[in-house]
Formats: sequence, structure tokens, C-alpha cells
Amino acid sequence: MLRNSKTVPKIPRINPFYSRWPLPRLAPRRTDHAPADLQFPKFRAFGAGVFGVSKPRQVAILGSTGSIGRSALEVLQSHRGRFELACISCHQQLDLFQKQCQEYRPKLAVVTDSANPQVDLWLSGTEPLSTRRACGNKELIEAISGPQVDIVVAAIVGVAGLETSLAAVQSGKRLALANKESLVVAGELLLDLAKKSGAEIIPVDSEHSAIFQALQCDVASNVPGNANTQRHIAEKQSQIEKIILTASGGPLRDWPLEELEKATIEDALAHPTWSMGRKITVDSATMMNKALEVIEAHWLFGLPAEQIQVVIHPQSIIHSMVEYRDGSVIAQLSPPDMKLPIQYALTYPERTSATARRMDWSQSQSLSWYPVDPERYPALELGFEVARRGGTCGAVLNAANEAAVELFLQSKIRLTDIAKVCRSVLQHHDFATSPSLAELLRQDRWARDEVMRWNKTLC
Ligand code: NAD
Ligand code: MG
Repeated sequence: MLRNSKTVPKIPRINPFYSRWPLPRLAPRRTDHAPADLQFPKFRAFGAGVFGVSKPRQVAILGSTGSIGRSALEVLQSHRGRFELACISCHQQLDLFQKQCQEYRPKLAVVTDSANPQVDLWLSGTEPLSTRRACGNKELIEAISGPQVDIVVAAIVGVAGLETSLAAVQSGKRLALANKESLVVAGELLLDLAKKSGAEIIPVDSEHSAIFQALQCDVASNVPGNANTQRHIAEKQSQIEKIILTASGGPLRDWPLEELEKATIEDALAHPTWSMGRKITVDSATMMNKALEVIEAHWLFGLPAEQIQVVIHPQSIIHSMVEYRDGSVIAQLSPPDMKLPIQYALTYPERTSATARRMDWSQSQSLSWYPVDPERYPALELGFEVARRGGTCGAVLNAANEAAVELFLQSKIRLTDIAKVCRSVLQHHDFATSPSLAELLRQDRWARDEVMRWNKTLC
């Protein structure tokens, strides 16, 4: 039993959009004596710039060898002049990393895994001359915190991405956030930091990007310099009935329930609509990914669990929706291609031409959706539970899931064990309402150990 089950905290609901909305610097600082329509951003505009003058924005792509990282590099390549590649990082796959250095010529390339046996050889390389090579998280954090980086694309997988997300936000950067685990583990800390530093957190996760876009769709003039934009979005929070996150249902969506426990690694990795890294693909098969996204949406949009719903939408064309108080539903649609939300997080609030796949309106297309079967996807409820309770729950659920997915990928447990062990670890953890970062990391380690201990009892 959960030790502190009687002290389940209530999520504060005092105009959460104002207090939590993580983009306090979207609107430029106003010179108070000037009329609103004459106020310009302090040369923070992207691309077109103010008076036609703008410096390219300096971008760091963390986890450049991964699925999101590779797409982000392509997006940058198609916007040369507007963005420059200040820094890339990876943990493994040094051969691919070396190729990326040669093709994209970042100013700095950092391998975060200093224990990697290939790293010394890689550090001694010289090609390309314009790229400085470094190793270790400290170098990476120094780089993204310094003036040489404007935007950080957080595309590291797992809680390993938290430290760099915190560093980017602490130093007031724009954080283009794919690493949902950062918000799941430490949403409150991250948003508090953003409020203090003025950092922008722009979602890259397609569902959250869709909501972010749907929330702005009737903003009259969505350009930097429109000081009313933020206020407009904030005012809308009270008009939202709920947000609807869509889920593909993953590769096992149509399997007979009794067959699920026989799913192999290959079965779980055969995602029908998205091509992604292994961990998130397994999360999609169990729907733990959607559970994490419920928590992510709760923090990003300041909405309680009761105002978040999940539906299965097999085509992955509608990326998510906002339902307003009057019953009107606003959705964002596009083919499943992460290059679009990555680009929007970089160019926001502007829209520019993109290399992402587009809708083909000359072809017939049916869109369908249906409710989630909780028996098939027991992990989903854990996301709602964590969004309701907050505190240490996110760190514990995330760590238990990371450890369990790893065990599944080593063929040590069944796919259906993942939700079971996560539920058990979550229920037995030592709940705290307002944990420090150190406490969250302690709970993370505890949860991983618990999963290992549980696995040993099975052997
Ligand atoms: P991936 O496994 O393809 O790539 C992960 C990247 O992180 C690699 O570059 C790897 O070298 C790096 N990395 C791994 N362990 C690390 C560590 N300990 N320290 C530093 N770097 C490390 O993953 P992905 O599919 O690109 O997903 C990345 C993040 O984006 C995840 O948080 C995922 O949930 C999120 N996301 C992915 C997609 C997608 O379409 N792939 C969509 C939405 C959100
Ligand atoms: Mg997603």
C-alpha cells in the first residue's frame, strides 16, 4: 500500500494558465510609454527580423543521432541562413555522429558518454576543422547555458535529458522540448524555473504541438510584437472544456487481448504510423507513451487530469484537439511527420515553408476514432493518476517504466508486465508533495532498484 495515501495533494486551480504558462517571453517586453501597436520585440524575431535585420538563431540539438535529432538536423538544413547549428550531442553511435559533424558542421560536438570505448579515438579526430570536439555532460551544459546558443532542441531520450532541459530553462533559452520525460519527472520545477528566467518551453511532441497550435488559431495577429498574444491564450484557458490527445493505439491495437502477453520485441517495435526510437515505440505499444503525454499536457497547459481525454485515432492525422466550452472542437491535422512540430517549435510564432509531408487532398482519406479500452492499455490510467497526485509520482512512474522497458528489450519480462510493475512501484513509493530535484532523483534510483528487485523475484 502507498504509505501516504491519505495525503493526496490537490492540484491548485488558481488561474493555472497564467501562473504556469511557460512562454512568458513570447510577447516582447513593452516600453510602457509606447502604444501597443508600435512596440517591437527586442530583435528576438525569427528570420524576417525587424527592419529586415536579423542574426541567424544559434541552435543546439541534443541527441542528434536519434530519431528526433536526425529530423531536427534536416529541418535546420532546410532553413540555413535563419538558423545555425551551434552544437550537437550524442551518447552512442559515434560513426553516425562523425558523419553528422562532416555533413552539418556544428561549431561544437559533444559525446556525453565518457565511458564510450570509441570516444578517445573520436576526440583525437580533426575533421571537420570548424567543429570543436568535446566529451561529457558538463561541457554540454556549459555550452547550452552560454551566449553561443539561443534554442535548445531537447531530443535526448529518458530522464537522461532532464539536466540539460533544466540548464536550458535556467539560462532563459527557448527549449524546443521533445524529451517529455523532463516534464513528467520535474514539471513543476521546470515551469517555476522558466517563470523566473523568462525561458520559453515550446512543445515538440506532436500532440502538444497540436494543442499549442489549436489554442492560437483565432489569435488575430500572431506575430512577435503583438503584446496581446499571450494574454489572449491565457484568457482562453477558462474557455476550454477539455483537450483530447489522440493515440494511434500502437502495433498491438487489434491483437486479441489474450495474445498480448506473447508479444515479442519485434511485434512491439512494429509501429503502424510513426518511425521512432525503441523506447518510445515500446511505450506506444503499452500506451505508457500516452500516459506520459497526459502528464506532459497537464504541466504544459495547466489543466487538471479531468480536463484531459485520450482517444484512439489509428491514422495519426489528427494530432490532438481542443474542445471549447461551447462545444466547438479545434484540431491540428497533418501526415505523421515530426519535422513539422520540430520546425514550428523553432520558427514559432512564424510559419514558414516546410519539408515535412503534406496532406494530399486529391486522395480519399477516412479518419476515425474510438475510445480507449482500459483492459488493453492499463498503463494509461497511471498517467491520469500521476497527473492528479503530482509530487514524486512522475519521477517514480517514469523511472519504473524506463527500467521495465529496458528489461523487456532484453527479453527478461513480458510486454504486459511493464504496466503491472509500474503500478506496483508507484503504489509502494514514499510519496512527497513538493520534492526537491535531489529528492526526485533519489526516487528515480529507488524505483529502478525496485523494478530490478521485482524482476529477480521472478527468476
Ligand atoms: P532515440 O532513441 O531515437 O534517440 C535518443 C538520443 O538520445 C540519441 O541521440 C542518443 O545518443 C541520446 N541519448 C541516449 N541516452 C543518452 C544519455 N544517457 N545521455 C545523453 N544522451 C543520450 O529517441 P527518439 O525517438 O528520438 O526520442 C527522443 C525524445 O523525444 C524522447 O524523449 C521521446 O519520448 C521524444 N519524442 C520522440 C518522438 C519520435 O517521433 N521519435 C515523438 C515525440 C517525442
Ligand atoms: Mg507524442
